[in-house]
Amino acid sequence: MFRFTTIKDYHQALQSAATSCTDTVQQYLTVIRERASLNAFLEVFETEALQRAAALDQSRAAGKPMEPLHGVIVGIKDVICYQGHAVTASSRILAGYKAIYHATAIEKLLAAGAIIIGRQNCDEFAMGSSNENSAYGPVKNFIDTSRVPGGSSGGSAVAVQAGLCMVSLGSDTGGSVRQPADFCGIVGLKPTYGRVSRYGLIAYASSFDQIGILANTVADAAQVLEIIAGEDAFDSTVASLPVPSYSQATADHQIPGKIAYFRQALEHPSLDPAIQAAIYAFIGQLKHAGYQVDAIDFDWLDAIVPTYYVLTTAEASSNLSRYDGVRYGFRSDGEEHTLSDMYTQSRSKGFGKEVQRRILLGNFVLSAGYFDAYFTKAQQVRQLLANKTQEIFADYCCLLLPTVPAPAFRIGEKNTDPVEMFLGDIYTVFANLVGIPGISLPLFRHPNGLPFGLQLMTSHFDEVTLLKLSQQMMQLAKTSA
Ligand code: GLN
Repeated sequence: MFRFTTIKDYHQALQSAATSCTDTVQQYLTVIRERASLNAFLEVFETEALQRAAALDQSRAAGKPMEPLHGVIVGIKDVICYQGHAVTASSRILAGYKAIYHATAIEKLLAAGAIIIGRQNCDEFAMGSSNENSAYGPVKNFIDTSRVPGGSSGGSAVAVQAGLCMVSLGSDTGGSVRQPADFCGIVGLKPTYGRVSRYGLIAYASSFDQIGILANTVADAAQVLEIIAGEDAFDSTVASLPVPSYSQATADHQIPGKIAYFRQALEHPSLDPAIQAAIYAFIGQLKHAGYQVDAIDFDWLDAIVPTYYVLTTAEASSNLSRYDGVRYGFRSDGEEHTLSDMYTQSRSKGFGKEVQRRILLGNFVLSAGYFDAYFTKAQQVRQLLANKTQEIFADYCCLLLPTVPAPAFRIGEKNTDPVEMFLGDIYTVFANLVGIPGISLPLFRHPNGLPFGLQLMTSHFDEVTLLKLSQQMMQLAKTSA
């Protein structure tokens, strides 16, 4: 039986006829069925995946060259439009809605030969850190099913973790790819804002959202990024910069420059002592291996979560106003007598509690009396962080941080206090506020047995350095294990 390790090895197995796309898809479908209780997939495109696999097998048999993602089995978060397929953002309000066009990332995946196997559960409208905000039930962490997988791309992370697909596309507005990758012990990459088109990605907070990749290895993430990145006439916020060969970057062993970490991040009272100790020890290892790693001061750490929640809820309140019971999906069929009642009822019944909380909060921070105190202030902090980022990357090529202050918590454990849940985003939201790329690497195991990650960030559009260092650090951890 074929066992997936990396896309490269899978392609070799296909070439030597050790497996076929059809056999591999069948194998994955079996595992998906066996592990259905994880609740990672909202829908599996079984027949279609098998048809596509057969066509790919035929194309190889006819001697055609393999496309870069030939036969790669990909799962997509339920916020990415795949034409003709349901897309609900794990919300009741989009029940019954089908995508009328492909997201650009999907278009590119398909052109590269990928097989899309299904759409994955997530927090409703990508708002959350535990996947408990889905209208379709929580997702379970495969390492310990009493625990959350993280969120909002929880289904996408578990699908990779539990071998239900080879890679997943998620979205990351404040950590939703990196945090579940941390909780599940896999790689989670959020590219620079503007590297991957957002066309066809259901919007949460448009100036933060980015499609990201969940994978088993850095090399696989690099390979997928190379395909989905790049200019797009349908998204004016995408950069026209050429897309370098990210997969080649991962093979470079040269040390690219100095690394910094925020002293205040590693000394933060919310950081689990075992995580703190592991990261300090790893910094020691890096220094020993010849890297220069410096502590730098960053006095804004406690300001970034509030800034993120003011700005993202403001953007969300506007983005989500389109779900009015008329244009998309769900409409309340109650006894409403006026148009405005119908809107109210559709939105009250269609949106879950967390989404409603954020719409209310967003409207509040944008309202006339409070605009300057909250929204303007938060924009000012965002500018300040952007300036600080420039200063850091003038001297350093990489910023090293924990991904999350503590490993995966139990389902239901953090449901009573939303602020406590928000504060868990302390290390991830920085990258989204300033638009830089970030990755979570599955380097560590907590004394309680759960995995946790190391987070790296680099300057805008410097995914090459990010992936290069990621590969080097994975290697270093392996050799010294
Ligand atoms: N946990 C963060 C939030 O709830 C991140 C969400 C995301 O990146 N989509 O907003």
